[in-house]
Amino acid sequence: MSAARKAEERAGEARATLVVMKFGGTSVEDAAAILRTTAIVRGRRERGLSPVVVVSAMAKVTDQLLAAAAAAGRGDKAGALAIAARLRNRHIDTAADLLSGELLLEVDAAIRRGFDSLDDLLRGIAAVGELTPRTSDKVVSYGERISSRMVAAAFAQHGLNGAHVDARKCIITDDHYGKAAPLEAAIEARLTELVLPLVEAGKTPVIGGFIGATTDGITTTLGRGGSDYTAALVGGGLCAGAIEIWTDVNGIMTTDPRICPDALRVKTISFEEAAELAYFGAKVLHPATILPAVQKSIPVWVLNSRNATNEGTKITAMAPPCASPFKSIAAKKKLTIIDIVASRMLMTHGYLKSVFDVFDRFECAIDMVSTSEVSISLTVESNNRLPAICAELGKIADVKFEGNKALICMVGEDIRGQSGIAGRVFSAIRHINVRMISQGASEINMSFMIEESDVDEALRSLHAEFFADPDPAVFDTAARAVAAKV
Ligand code: ADP
Ligand code: ASP
Ligand code: MG
Repeated sequence: MSAARKAEERAGEARATLVVMKFGGTSVEDAAAILRTTAIVRGRRERGLSPVVVVSAMAKVTDQLLAAAAAAGRGDKAGALAIAARLRNRHIDTAADLLSGELLLEVDAAIRRGFDSLDDLLRGIAAVGELTPRTSDKVVSYGERISSRMVAAAFAQHGLNGAHVDARKCIITDDHYGKAAPLEAAIEARLTELVLPLVEAGKTPVIGGFIGATTDGITTTLGRGGSDYTAALVGGGLCAGAIEIWTDVNGIMTTDPRICPDALRVKTISFEEAAELAYFGAKVLHPATILPAVQKSIPVWVLNSRNATNEGTKITAMAPPCASPFKSIAAKKKLTIIDIVASRMLMTHGYLKSVFDVFDRFECAIDMVSTSEVSISLTVESNNRLPAICAELGKIADVKFEGNKALICMVGEDIRGQSGIAGRVFSAIRHINVRMISQGASEINMSFMIEESDVDEALRSLHAEFFADPDPAVFDTAARAVAAKV
């Protein structure tokens, strides 16, 4: 075998032991949580794996940074600086609980420098009285920039060779501020140049999730919940052997355990099912997470950092057959239904295109569409451009829109070919008013729109109907009531 081939094989082997571990906000919410996270990563290293760690901002920090940015944008300088001061103290206190000696001095100084520049930024925004998506991304980036430094220092303090990597040097994106699209080839090149050598030197790289930068170095973000996406990009870019999403529940559950406490852990789910669930509202995974993993067939695990010995959920290319038609039920709130009525023109050539063009111009994604002879109903995420969109549509049709709607999405590959499922779904919620129904083009989801206020009741009724007698091969029936989260 040639030397080059041998080197290639060694690289292949190294990648198989490489595991990307993403810890969400609750897994780094305070010193105790960061220590739990440290112990989990140590466990992986002791098994001979090489972890690359992606962390979110500490729990709720992103919301608070957005609130500070909004206050500054309204010209409320004092309000913005007060929020920043509380965040500064929370990070300084956490670092003091977590670290000691030189490392504490270094991180403490970095936190103070970070918050000094955040204060300057907020003052600038308040002076102008205008918040652009670009400055908003800059403000919000401090959460992950600082949490990742702190976690890297904790790893260094506890013998895991923590090495901080600025995500903005690796996660290269376009300039779509607030929801930037990653440039995967550039990301792969940067990861290979900056992160791989750290792994090979036995270090544990720690990268802030959610944030990135344009090729010109301007800070961007990948959209709310985007740290999962970062983990998948890092896993995909480095051809990792596995991606682990560590959160505050035992895995992907049969529905949101906050709403339905008897939700069960799903042991294995397919990429396709997980992608549908994430897109249609299951907050446990960011919708874009799955794609980079699918492209390289990297298994993804969802695990509980508060209950690390639990097996979690494995997401793989093929899911085993399941006796239950559905794996999980998601709900997506804050949706608006738009009814477009055009009595004569609907079926004329090019009409639908002119309708969709309006949404395209406003960069507004459509979730669900249904048509009748004279009308089209669409659902979109509620947003402040809707009046303008509807005014534009008003030029070609009669339009009305109604907010406070929610989409319930029931997902499972085993609904393919089963009859009578729709009957069971709608009789379980016969007391609830259903507005639009669609069986997704992918054939693995059944979705419908209801009032937002009916979501909890609908989820509980549907869960009782479909998960009363779950298939033990696919669901963790032993732990029926244990959703680990109190
Ligand atoms: P993190 O901060 O770790 O990214 P998130 O809050 O984004 O965590 O996601 C985890 C939360 O997702 C859980 O606490 C749970 O309430 C919610 N969730 C919604 N649907 C599901 C589901 N089907 N399975 C598991 N969790 C879900
Ligand atoms: N901190 C970001 C958010 O709260 C990203 C993430 O946690 O995934 O949206
Ligand atoms: Mg999340």
